[in-house]
Amino acid sequence: MSKRDYYEVLGVAKSASEDEIKKAYRKLARQYHPDVNKEPDAVEKFKEVKEAYDVVSDPQKRAQYDQFGHAAGQQGGFGGGGADFGGFGDIFDMFFGGGGGGGRRNPNAPRQGNDLQYTMSISFKDAYFGKEDEIEIPKETTCSKCDGSGAEPGTKVETCPTCNGAGQQDVVQNTPFGRVVNRRPCPSCKGKGKFVPTKCSKCQGSGKETIRRKIRINIPAGVDDGMQMRISGEGELGVNGGPPGDLYVVFRVKRHDFFERDEDNLFCQIPITFAQAALGDEIEVPTMEGKVKMKIPAGTQTGKTFRLRGHGMPRVNRGGAKGDQHVKVTVVTPTKLSDRQKELLREFAELGGEETHAAGSAEKTLWDRFKNMMRGDV
Ligand SMILES: [Zn+2]
Ligand SMILES: [Zn+2]
Repeated sequence: MSKRDYYEVLGVAKSASEDEIKKAYRKLARQYHPDVNKEPDAVEKFKEVKEAYDVVSDPQKRAQYDQFGHAAGQQGGFGGGGADFGGFGDIFDMFFGGGGGGGRRNPNAPRQGNDLQYTMSISFKDAYFGKEDEIEIPKETTCSKCDGSGAEPGTKVETCPTCNGAGQQDVVQNTPFGRVVNRRPCPSCKGKGKFVPTKCSKCQGSGKETIRRKIRINIPAGVDDGMQMRISGEGELGVNGGPPGDLYVVFRVKRHDFFERDEDNLFCQIPITFAQAALGDEIEVPTMEGKVKMKIPAGTQTGKTFRLRGHGMPRVNRGGAKGDQHVKVTVVTPTKLSDRQKELLREFAELGGEETHAAGSAEKTLWDRFKNMMRGDV
């Protein structure tokens, strides 16, 4: 069986550097990986590339190959025969893991702490006016007794004997395409590289303690249900000296008995009497900042909505600008009438009847439409 030259397979010069070889291999491995390339000879090509790389990337094997050619690898046994793709995942992990840059995540590298989320329930009033408040959140911090080392003060921290302080371990797997090395955090020291014979009595060796931390929150006036606020640096502690995460405060605004809110607008309903609706009146309407006067014009129909400009919710961070308050009036039919009231209402009905309602109105009223239907004008 005639084998192609390994350098030819990888498309590099005999003098190629380790870096050039690695780059060439990555490119070809991507191109021929059977998960990607569905051509019938892709598997063979991939195996050929892998075999070439295994030899050329190993300085010892490379030197032998340079001297003896393919004869050098004959006893090595590069696999072949029944193809088993179980090993592809590992090969991919090794070369393309960690975001595709080919780089490996160093377990000792500084990492930012996790973000925290806190749900803050506030009253409608506090959402309207805004408020300075304090919340208490459980927060992980460096253990105050051992200063984060995890060792009882006065005792020593030793190097982890399992990984010799590296914090990681190489797990070797044999696949049909050669030896694959997977690097994992050391199971004994969880990647810390250190061994603590006498654990700190306060934190049991974790180096952390949980405290309840008070944080001042400035609830902005006009905050709406579900809005969130980021408080930088108040999240969980960073790992290996990385910066802390952030705290997100999510506001839950309680419902109001009287007002309903839609963004910056407030809606409410006011009951008025038939007499107020018919004759007109000036009434008092509650707003979030006290009562205001509102005119009801004579002849107001039930369900009519009036707008009080600038009495809605403050717009968050908009310098005090506010939405509107929408006031819907509902004419309430009396249910308890004295004999005298009944008498007057009967008199009223006899006096005006239907004509009263239609009189003087240019527009087609509900009465007009009703009367037309009753007459049979379909
Ligand atoms: Zn401690
Ligand atoms: Zn270890």
